[in-house]
Amino acid sequence: MKILFLDQSGKLGGAELCLADIAQQFQSNSLVGVFAEGAFPDYLRKRHIPVKILTDQPLQVQKASGLLAGLKSLNRLIPLITQVTHLSKQYDLIYANTQKALVVGAIASILSRRPLVYHLHDIVSPEHFSATNRRIIITLANRAALVIANSQASRDAFMKAGGRGDRVHVVYNGFRPEDYGPYVDKREYFRKDLLSTPQIVDQPPSFVVGHFSRLSPWKGQHVLIDALQYCPDNVIALLVGDALFGEQDYVQQLYQQIKTLNLEHRVRFFGFRSDIPQLMAACDLVAHTSTAPEPFGRVIVEAMLCGTPVVAAAAGGAAELIDHGQTGWLTPPGNAQKLADIINICQSYPSQSKVCAQQAQIQARQRFDLEGINLNIKSLLSGVVKTHY
Ligand code: UDP
Repeated sequence: MKILFLDQSGKLGGAELCLADIAQQFQSNSLVGVFAEGAFPDYLRKRHIPVKILTDQPLQVQKASGLLAGLKSLNRLIPLITQVTHLSKQYDLIYANTQKALVVGAIASILSRRPLVYHLHDIVSPEHFSATNRRIIITLANRAALVIANSQASRDAFMKAGGRGDRVHVVYNGFRPEDYGPYVDKREYFRKDLLSTPQIVDQPPSFVVGHFSRLSPWKGQHVLIDALQYCPDNVIALLVGDALFGEQDYVQQLYQQIKTLNLEHRVRFFGFRSDIPQLMAACDLVAHTSTAPEPFGRVIVEAMLCGTPVVAAAAGGAAELIDHGQTGWLTPPGNAQKLADIINICQSYPSQSKVCAQQAQIQARQRFDLEGINLNIKSLLSGVVKTHY
């Protein structure tokens, strides 16, 4: 099977990491077409996955923008569609991984008569998309032969917005357990490194809460900072991730919040890192704090695979990943006090929280195993190709 994968982003977000794991199994005769240079194409090259940069100027349309902004980028869109149409004639199907890739892929699929598959990594709701963008996504996705939704929550929102349910299959992101397993034993080693900063006095021993996400208002780093006020002084927060889509105002807001609350000695920013499993293994708890429904929440599964306890905001896909009290904890989105309560419970009862993390690790290894998930995707794609030709 020859597949032309399409993704708009040069940045390395969750959707791109997921695509790399899927594309790897088809690497000998497939291509990932990306609309911008950056960390994502570099990541693909390192893994020997064929990649082609399809435009030297990224499309400007934002998730919340309307039709006018879309029309303004038409001068870039048309050559891109023409290029993808030509390219796709060498492939059996077009696999769009993001919404701008869906726009380009859907039109190219009509012109080249190749079937279209859309991997839905988003919650198509007013909290995440403008009305115009929701209409565009639904209209084009309804032309796809297959829509792969990354959670029940993504599928439900898609259908609520008018998406056809008969072609949607829910497939969770897959992970290689061995990428996350071997670091737990080296926890103390990584921890020393993690806490080696003059601001952090590790006495009494710090209780480290890690937050792994791009810095963005709806990812809710401010909720964790807020929660620190209701926790003892030895509870510190590590913020891992960068403002990938230019949310510099939010970063400034976080610095201001830390200053106002006198928490400079209890919060550390790490920026974007590629050693996530090592960092997670060194944390006492991983906190996920999205204030809007999370489509999937890779970091939740990653924490589970690392054997680190995890607390997440109970909305969207995140609520499907955690069995509250059994494999982690769920708190109401945006509620700093409730988050602090869970942090304090985890600190007070470390053996119970360890049992929970071990249970989560066993379950996550089975439920999100990349090999099984890739087989499932392969069989869905084969079905599309068989029906079409
Ligand atoms: N991530 C990373 N380095 C960072 C911060 C995050 O590699 O500094 C990874 C993280 O491990 C996860 C992905 O980025 O695999 C984020 O995926 P998620 O589904 O949590 O959120 P998204 O970015 O897709 O909204």
